[in-house]
Amino acid sequence: MAVITLSGITKSFGTVHIIRGVDLTIGDGEFVIFVGPSGSGKSTLLRLIAGLEETTGGRILIDGTDVTDRGPAERALSMVFQSYALYPTKTVRQNMSFGLEVARLPRAEIDRRVNAAAAALKLEAYMDRKPAALSGGQRQRVAIGRAIVREPVAFLFDEPLSNLDAALRVDMRVEIAKLHQRLKATMIYVTHDQVEAMTLADKIVVLDGGVIQQVGAPLELYERPVNLFVAQFIGSPK
Ligand code: ADP
Ligand code: MG
Repeated sequence: MAVITLSGITKSFGTVHIIRGVDLTIGDGEFVIFVGPSGSGKSTLLRLIAGLEETTGGRILIDGTDVTDRGPAERALSMVFQSYALYPTKTVRQNMSFGLEVARLPRAEIDRRVNAAAAALKLEAYMDRKPAALSGGQRQRVAIGRAIVREPVAFLFDEPLSNLDAALRVDMRVEIAKLHQRLKATMIYVTHDQVEAMTLADKIVVLDGGVIQQVGAPLELYERPVNLFVAQFIGSPK
């Protein structure tokens, strides 16, 4: 069953057309990556799926329900930002618990979810620290932990590793791949890094100028790019 279906999605800011007719189906448990040059509309498309921007046209379905006119809180998705967006005055545990407390989940359930996420992300030793006392990679883990505890139907990542140094980026890439295997979760992940896309994705969506140029498995795009743009962007020998 398809988890997320986009049909005829358009987005304009004033008279500028940023997303120009996107049709896409994202399956249950799929790791889908949006790649494309800066300004191609990757973040905007992700924000439309999250409900952080309103579509100009088209429909968005999640698990068969039309959510086009619903806000982000009603979409059961968790977004992880490049900037982490942690609360500086709260501890790691409080950062991870806060959203569930606002949603008034029972204390025992909150603790169960937070402890499970902390174990999965190797954060147990840091639960009482504030974000300022963590490394960049640890902060990114907390941001991911906060997304996990919501038990969303899908995770949305917008360039989650681009603020990390090169070595840490490789480590975190492996962590995210493991997390995907363990949770069997649907993930939509934006990057401008072709290597990240080729190593993580089940399916790559190549965007340029707000239009999907090609959708396919990494090897398919590499071996059979539909046009010169995709070939050059993916780095295939065509
Ligand atoms: P990407 O993430 O691929 O770099 P974005 O989705 O951030 O691209 O942006 C695509 C285009 O939309 C850019 O030209 C950007 O300037 C424009 N854009 C994004 N958000 C807004 C906004 N709120 N108002 C006007 N233009 C925007
Ligand atoms: Mg972006």
